[in-house]
Amino acid sequence: MRMLIMLILIYVGFKIVQGFMQRRRQEVPAAPAQAKEEETFQDPVCGVYVTEDDAVIGRLEGERLHFCSMACLEKYRESLVHKAS
Ligand SMILES: [Zn+2]
Repeated sequence: MRMLIMLILIYVGFKIVQGFMQRRRQEVPAAPAQAKEEETFQDPVCGVYVTEDDAVIGRLEGERLHFCSMACLEKYRESLVHKAS
């Protein structure tokens, strides 16, 4: 009878440990997502730092540029046109 109680205690203890292990495994994928958020790019027109998600991405003369808004992208494109002429 004592053996059975021991087995139940071991089983319950194992289940608790397994629960912790599963919770730790679920925490792992959250870390790389946070690191990605920290990546920022400087708007070459107004100097504001923007994240990839918030940025207006312009491909100008083969370069990939990040702008805070369409207005800044347009301003940058205009400055390129003036430089060329
Ligand atoms: Zn801007």
